[in-house]
Amino acid sequence: REAEEKSAAMDKSLYKGVWVYIEQVAGHIRNVSHELLGEGRRLADTMGQELAGILIGENVESLAKEIFASGADKVYLVEGPEFNHYSTDAYTITLTHLIETYRPSVILMGATNDGRDLGPRVACRVGTGLTADCTNLGIDEETGLVAWTRPAFGGNIMATILCPDHRPQMGTVRPKVFKRPEQDFSKSGEIIRVQSKVRPEDIRTKLLGVIQSCTAACNLEEAEIIVSGGRGMCKPENFTLIEELANVLGAAVGASRAAVDAGWKPALHQVGQTGKTVGPKIYFACGISGAIQHLAGMSSSDIVIAINKDADAPIFKVADYGIVGDVMEVIPALITEFKKI
Ligand code: FAD
Repeated sequence: REAEEKSAAMDKSLYKGVWVYIEQVAGHIRNVSHELLGEGRRLADTMGQELAGILIGENVESLAKEIFASGADKVYLVEGPEFNHYSTDAYTITLTHLIETYRPSVILMGATNDGRDLGPRVACRVGTGLTADCTNLGIDEETGLVAWTRPAFGGNIMATILCPDHRPQMGTVRPKVFKRPEQDFSKSGEIIRVQSKVRPEDIRTKLLGVIQSCTAACNLEEAEIIVSGGRGMCKPENFTLIEELANVLGAAVGASRAAVDAGWKPALHQVGQTGKTVGPKIYFACGISGAIQHLAGMSSSDIVIAINKDADAPIFKVADYGIVGDVMEVIPALITEFKKI
């Protein structure tokens, strides 16, 4: 009822501009934010509107030049010690305040842990909807609204969702579904500094410490090379071969759901529809059959190298290079050869 009343009272023509929420960790902008700036630029140009980056953090102003280089016209900057680490309360209050003050038409966020935490809360506070986990974006020709596409019903259909009645139109987008744009550091733009409205009593959680559980080996979304293993690795001990090959190549380690379900690797290594979407330069699929749900997470890789003892395995249909053979023989041979380089 509250949302309906808000919608009826809402003058949608007041909402303008495409925003990208810039996710930064320890002063580094995550790749997904650059990817969304590239896509946001395309949407903003089609809609004839401006593109802005929303930058919240402590001492992060120097990142604005990167945001302009990736295509933004403006940066809304909110700084303060309360933004030192991501905090649900501080960031929700701040992004909600920015939306209520400046009224964007569209907001794009990464479907990351932080984006998935922040997006729905903010959408609820401003009385709009949110399309989560999108894998494509477009503009609906008839309405001019953003067409958000995401898998639905266990990946059996791709649903395209419009948000006709509320503003802003909000969505989270999976990392690596869009290419990172070429940056142009000759570009600059306007920085709009906004005072933080967060009061100490608004923050209901206290950060006691940060435990780094994820090393480079599980940073799949940002990896340039990924070595993934599946059920064809046959037993958990054999996964050391995947790790060794990854180590030699400076790659991250991925796994199929079958390997994760068997307990051979933790879930944060899973690639696919219910795992991570990745887009490395090189993806090694070792003992992975190539089920549609696995391909959904890795098919935008630049080069796919498949190793499988079954010459008819579906993975070979998407592979650029295929090696028909036993992983227990092929992977050690690759390790030996790559070590020589
Ligand atoms: P298998 O399909 O069993 O394939 C093993 C392969 O290894 C075979 O091709 C075999 O020829 C080969 N092999 C065996 N021994 C050797 C050897 N010694 N040397 C070389 N090759 C060998 N799957 C995902 O991966 N990610 C997801 O996110 C995901 N989400 C899903 C969501 C839903 C709703 C559903 C229904 C399924 C999902 N799945 C997902 C599961 C998916 O359908 C497959 O079951 C899974 O990907 C199979 O994993 P696999 O390729 O490792 O195993």
